Amino acid sequence: MQTLHEAVQAMLSSEAQRHFIGGEWVGAQSGKTIPVNDPGSGKEITRIAAGDATDVDSAVAAARTAFRKSGWATMPVNDRAVILHRLADLIDKHVEPLAQLESLDVGKPLAQAQFGDVPNVSQTLRYYTDLSVHTRRAEPIAVSGYEARSIRVPYGVCAFIIPWNFPILLVGWGVSPALAAGNTVVIKPPEDASLTALYFCKLAKEAGVPDGVINVVTGYGEEAGAALAEHPGINRMSFTGSPEVGRLIAESCGRNLVPVKLELGGKGAAILFNDIDVSAAATALSGAITLNSGQVCCTATRWIVHESIMDRFVDSATSVLSQVAIGHGLDASTQMGPVISEKQRKRVLGYIERGEQEGANVLLRGGVPDSLEFDGGYYVRPSLLGGSPDNVCAREEVFGPFAFVMPFSDEDEAIDLVNRSNYGLANSVWTADLERANRVAEAMVAGNSWINAHNVFVHGIPYAGCNLSGMGGGVLGPDTFFDYLRPQSIVRPLG
Ligand code: NAD
Repeated sequence: MQTLHEAVQAMLSSEAQRHFIGGEWVGAQSGKTIPVNDPGSGKEITRIAAGDATDVDSAVAAARTAFRKSGWATMPVNDRAVILHRLADLIDKHVEPLAQLESLDVGKPLAQAQFGDVPNVSQTLRYYTDLSVHTRRAEPIAVSGYEARSIRVPYGVCAFIIPWNFPILLVGWGVSPALAAGNTVVIKPPEDASLTALYFCKLAKEAGVPDGVINVVTGYGEEAGAALAEHPGINRMSFTGSPEVGRLIAESCGRNLVPVKLELGGKGAAILFNDIDVSAAATALSGAITLNSGQVCCTATRWIVHESIMDRFVDSATSVLSQVAIGHGLDASTQMGPVISEKQRKRVLGYIERGEQEGANVLLRGGVPDSLEFDGGYYVRPSLLGGSPDNVCAREEVFGPFAFVMPFSDEDEAIDLVNRSNYGLANSVWTADLERANRVAEAMVAGNSWINAHNVFVHGIPYAGCNLSGMGGGVLGPDTFFDYLRPQSIVRPLG
């Protein structure tokens, strides 16, 4: 097991983590705290402030003041870029403590946080910061009789509500374009995994981000999250999480006429034609559903396999999935950690039980590993079910190490099976025939279609959902930067 970095030890040795508001560390005004458990052992590792509407009020007020008075919104773009690049450099310098905190908080293998999630944050910051430097903020408008131009200005206070599966990576995807555009932000991280968002604030302060530009209020969704979403002082809202909560957020924002961006759940599919390398595809898709213990919104949990390769594919996948090394995130040999909480484990096991009751074939029985080393932690082994597309496990988001297999005989049938879902986040098609791959990629209804790969994220390529998977513009693409700037036209009649 990895020894904890001294910065992590220092953070965990304090009694409770506090909010970061107006550049200061402050406890919840109610004095209440929430326990934080290590999903790998089930033990409490620290506590966080249980924020409520009063704390949210203070954070929004601090962000509003910073927008008007700190100079962040009006400073030359290059000067703001220097500060954000300094923050990106500090993140790179602090990869180790950030990755350890993320692994401890979420349960994910350290290497995933260290070489994936955390470096991704500095990459996102640099991507949007560089974009901001090269973007024109004023465009002349050629209309006879008028001198006119359109300018782009930051909105003001942008609010972010983040889920627990990729907490620091999603802070990066969320706030980077908003900050680079000159907005100030209030973040409500997930109650199950808030530690890296707080560490991010420590680095922001060190980088010279003015006080009040970045604020974090920790707490439960129904209290701190709901108070933030319905706060009349915010100018934009970005929410990442479940469709159920997304609806509530959209309702609150609708009442205040605040623009909202929703990044929600998914039920991704992979279509596998019979001209593929069966074992390579089975390995890749088994990797996709065990990445982050399957708690990935866009992962491929419906495997739609050509009938002629079904038996070979299932043999190959069950063999790979049975050999996944399950263990504590900080153990170097771990390939898959626990799920985030006992509540999540019950959800995953409950779905599989219901799927079986509805007649699904159990191709690989997962369940709770019985070895003593897993005592206390929220571990669950990968499962594979197969059967009717009407099965609950083929329709709903399970959010664990799980996939549902269905056969098809021709291309149209495969596309119909994919498009039965009410979600629309991400699907993939696997075939050696690139003409067919592109045709199918276009026919699958979702924000993202991948060819011969799944879970592909590149800065500069937009990532968004449609239908139940989200609305409002998405993340990662250049357009996301402009989502955080509002247009304003300036006109003078001539003569
Ligand atoms: P969740 O919706 O339960 O919680 C997400 C966030 O919302 C948390 O910070 C939570 O505290 C807060 N929240 C909960 N109730 C609230 C309320 N009433 N008002 C305001 N805020 C509230 O989701 P989760 O279980 O944390 O995350 C898993 C979900 O997120 C899955 O559906 C997954 O697919 C989705 N997700 C989507 C993306 C994407 O980019 N599309 C990325 C990651 C996760």
